[in-house]
Amino acid sequence: MSTIDTAHFRDVLLEERARVVSALAGLRDEHPGSLEDETEEVNASLDSDDLAETASATLGREIDYTLGENSEQVLADIDAALARIEAGTYGTCTNCSKQISVARLEAHPSASLCIDCARKAEGG
Ligand SMILES: [Zn+2]
Repeated sequence: MSTIDTAHFRDVLLEERARVVSALAGLRDEHPGSLEDETEEVNASLDSDDLAETASATLGREIDYTLGENSEQVLADIDAALARIEAGTYGTCTNCSKQISVARLEAHPSASLCIDCARKAEGG
């Protein structure tokens, strides 16, 4: 059984956490208005030459909002993973208790399920 380098993954998770927290803070600072307001502004400038640019900015904002919603979940996953590092259970599937492969953890450090359970959870 290989040993998981939890110190490495703690660093990775803390770095990712800081990135998500700052992204969330940025979303709140930069986008105080609602998405509906933005859409109306685009409709009002339909004959503008920079419509395409404005539309793509709005599309980017929709993605930002999705990121904002996902970020809350990402943050919860990261906190749970950090808690598992503290508890000494990091890298163990929370469903079947098998060891999660290091390759999977490298790709998805906050993973709480092994690849088999993750696939089942996704309805595969
Ligand atoms: Zn599992």
